[in-house]
Amino acid sequence: MAGTLPRRESVIIRGAWVLTMGAAGALENGAVHIADGVIRQVGSYADLRREHPTLPVVGDGFGLVIPGLVNAHTHLSEALIPGMGSELTLYEWGERLVTPVARHLTAEMARKGTVLKAAEMIRSGVTFVNDMFVHSNPGSQASMGVLEGLVEVGMRGMVSFGAEDSLGETTETPPMSVDEVMQEHQELSSAAQASELVGFRYGIGTLLGQSDELLEAGADACRTNGWPVHTHLCEVREEIVHSSLRWSRRPIQQADRLGFLDVPLIAAHAIWVRQSDIDQLAEAGGSVVHNPVANMILGAGVCPLARWLAADVSVGIGTDGAASNDSQNMLEAVKMAALLQKVHALDPAVINAREVLEMATLGGARALGIQGQVGSLETGKRADLVCLRPTVELAAIHDPYQQVVYCAGPRSVGEVWVDGRRLLADGHLTTIDEPARIDRARELARSLARQAGLEGNLSRL
Ligand SMILES: [Zn+2]
Repeated sequence: MAGTLPRRESVIIRGAWVLTMGAAGALENGAVHIADGVIRQVGSYADLRREHPTLPVVGDGFGLVIPGLVNAHTHLSEALIPGMGSELTLYEWGERLVTPVARHLTAEMARKGTVLKAAEMIRSGVTFVNDMFVHSNPGSQASMGVLEGLVEVGMRGMVSFGAEDSLGETTETPPMSVDEVMQEHQELSSAAQASELVGFRYGIGTLLGQSDELLEAGADACRTNGWPVHTHLCEVREEIVHSSLRWSRRPIQQADRLGFLDVPLIAAHAIWVRQSDIDQLAEAGGSVVHNPVANMILGAGVCPLARWLAADVSVGIGTDGAASNDSQNMLEAVKMAALLQKVHALDPAVINAREVLEMATLGGARALGIQGQVGSLETGKRADLVCLRPTVELAAIHDPYQQVVYCAGPRSVGEVWVDGRRLLADGHLTTIDEPARIDRARELARSLARQAGLEGNLSRL
């Protein structure tokens, strides 16, 4: 079962509706023909069937077909530490949960955790994940484990290493040297280049978490290599205050001054912003990821989505990490993205279901610069798509967009293809032995919590 990827299929996938998220819009009684990892044709089921009478058909006239969801921001390195510290603010959570884990997290743990959480993501319709490794364990090359896990599962994605070397005064974790950090970036980049489906971004956990020396070395490397950046920006009010105290500038101004806006930059959160910040990032062509569940758990704030979209900034949706969400259920994040905006604006019309689903598909792809390959069901794009089956949640389909955003759950996700390979078939993972993975992860998670001194420590806070 695990270890080898399934073959690329030549098949017709049909549904009561195909939501292309492209120019063709929503097709009733539609279908998609995929072959050799590519979308060959999108149209009515009757037409595609007539043209290809002998091809196998997946799906029926009752389910829904959508592009694979793009999880535009998460941390698979947190896979083994969910369900702890949920009453902490971001700064406390970082110092008391994430940082103590850093020096104990090995590449093997990262790989096994990645496979485990990939199962959760695939089951919620994710085909692409933009990941940032947020732990630094000197000498371990642990970030490589995430890349290896994604390759093993057959998932498309981008990896980055968000090491910090300025970790505050309360932690005993020794920081990595600037040379060690830069070497790990280089090695991760080379390994990603050698993989078929995984790309690389230069990770910056936060600007404030890095020494001036590391910030400058990173900016140099991005300029030299043309590396795009993946970072967190303007997540909590404290970040704005500390940035002002350290640099007399707001975080987006500081990112610009360092040169990080000269390359494509994707910023998670972007909550605590002024109009001048929005204009500056928009002008530079930067993009944003909204992570509603993590923002609510940490009490961080509400991303001003309407203002970002009005400035023509590409916005994707992310789950954020397994330690700050704490789930990797993308369908939940999609629904929460809509609900959080509605309750914040006290206006149910502030965002509609189609707009939210677009952010989770084509919007996320645009934010990551991969809209030419994925994000919508259009001829010539890679065959990354999801078939939602007519479970009880989808028994009555009046408006297919609302049905996906407000009703669908992981149980509705029947089939998932990445690059034409079926990673979920009739609700069964084809590249992951799920029960065995859960067993192994359980032991590793206990051992990691024990080594990091977290066992039983955070649940009572
Ligand atoms: Zn994050």
